[in-house]
Amino acid sequence: MSNSEQLAELSSLEAIYDGSREVVLELPDLGNVPDEGTSFQAKLRAVNVDVTIWLPPDYLADDGGTTLPLFELSSGIYPRKVLDSFAQELQSLAEPLRGSPVLFSWLEWLRVDARTASSSQGAAALEGRETDWEDDFENDIPTADPQEVAKSANCESCFVLLDKVPRVQLKSCQHSLCPQCAGMTSQVFAANKLKPHCPLANCRANAPELMEWTGMPELWATVSKRVLSSPFKDSIVFCPRCEDRGMDMPVVSSLDDGQAPNPARRTVRCFQCSHIFCAICRSPSHSSSCFDDPSCVVRMAKRRPPLTPELAEKAALMAAEIREEELKREVEGLASLRSADGFEKFRECFLQLHHKAIMNSLACEFGSGVELRPTPLARDVQDRFMFAIDSARIKPAFHGTDTKNYPSIFSRGLLIPGMKNEIPVAHGSAHGLGIYTANVDACWLSRGFCTADSMLVCAVRQDQMVKCVGDAMVVFSPDGVVPLFESYVPPSWKSNTSWATAPALQQSLGKQAFGKPAQPPPAKPAQPSPAKPAPKKSKFLSRLAAKSKKH
Ligand SMILES: [Zn+2]
Ligand SMILES: [Zn+2]
Ligand SMILES: [Zn+2]
Ligand SMILES: [Zn+2]
Repeated sequence: MSNSEQLAELSSLEAIYDGSREVVLELPDLGNVPDEGTSFQAKLRAVNVDVTIWLPPDYLADDGGTTLPLFELSSGIYPRKVLDSFAQELQSLAEPLRGSPVLFSWLEWLRVDARTASSSQGAAALEGRETDWEDDFENDIPTADPQEVAKSANCESCFVLLDKVPRVQLKSCQHSLCPQCAGMTSQVFAANKLKPHCPLANCRANAPELMEWTGMPELWATVSKRVLSSPFKDSIVFCPRCEDRGMDMPVVSSLDDGQAPNPARRTVRCFQCSHIFCAICRSPSHSSSCFDDPSCVVRMAKRRPPLTPELAEKAALMAAEIREEELKREVEGLASLRSADGFEKFRECFLQLHHKAIMNSLACEFGSGVELRPTPLARDVQDRFMFAIDSARIKPAFHGTDTKNYPSIFSRGLLIPGMKNEIPVAHGSAHGLGIYTANVDACWLSRGFCTADSMLVCAVRQDQMVKCVGDAMVVFSPDGVVPLFESYVPPSWKSNTSWATAPALQQSLGKQAFGKPAQPPPAKPAQPSPAKPAPKKSKFLSRLAAKSKKH
């Protein structure tokens, strides 16, 4: 670690909260903290808030650094709005303390004051759940004859013996639950704004009495773990978007046995992040069968929790075939990528290989009018990426960001926040500080970070500096990822606007002639002089334009 002050602060926190039930710290190994900074997590049990804190190397540094730690809040019960107000509070607490330790003040504020601060906004949000129940379940769910059902000795959800803990017997189906399973079920249905039902997947009888079990909500991490080890898992699906942020949010799916082919009932919305997705394959909502689309099949095989055994097996078999096929194509493609003569050739080959997958994914988010244009990338950024190209596989990926950042990205490449630059951590860093990209079949993951209908299409070198987590690839080396294209939606894509006359393109063509060796852009990109003749369209650009039109 670069400074002993940080270490001292962490050690004292460890001592202060040792054995505390309200504040549980997950500190790094203090004897072995890396030079490039470290992060740790604190769970504020009583308020149900988790905070991940990242300590940059110059926080509390000897030379009087005034850098503050970065943090990210998450909670199983508070909506984003409340967490944002907490974050503001923490930030204003820290401002006057710049240069001195702030962590204790932060943790104490969260432990003692957060609940009061939230009572105005948070309570309203939580109470809202009870008022707008929405029943989209059919009424003909079978109910058991009380005479026929013997009282089970165990909770029928988690199988704990019911002699030591109270029995919660559901009125309509007579199924027996333990209080914890009753609480879990109630919390999940309440969050999904649905009336509670029996959690047993082959029963699902109405169970309004479970509403009484919405006591102190538990952390979603705890609830979801419990769901996973009970038959209730067959009634829910984890939101893929939240999963990519490290959270398992149990979304109630209305499919009864995993077979329901009705697309309307297959489509669900995450109560936490509002992401709308197919409950069977967890792709963006779609109308065709999940088995008709290779990318859906591959995603089905990765679904959490897994589908029913029969469906899961079928999907796994098909996915294996598809992957084998893809691998074969990739090996052939790689050969051409590696032999590409220069960056422009590489860019062209890359697009040929991945055009269909990229455009399909983009179309889900931006509509079928979406088009691509090559990024005006600085020469040394191109060279850095090309340098190690023949040692690894190359995958396509998306990166979503504020379009205001594009000029900087095109001249410096994508950079890791905080690493020898001024770039702040924009969207949290659940899986470590790196460049976050979305797999080619998960465009929606990057969409949330875009400020306009535009996204970067990148090539990612697959080596030990890349971590694959769910639908994301986190790149820990700036040289391992290069933004090749920028997607955009032409203002009137339905009219026959030709590629060469798109004004934005004219401008970027003015800065850099494609097809010729690229020049590094000047520090301040000069406007193209009107007297200069427009650069010739390369064959590649014409083909690209023609291809884009097809979608
Ligand atoms: Zn139980
Ligand atoms: Zn039941
Ligand atoms: Zn979600
Ligand atoms: Zn699907």
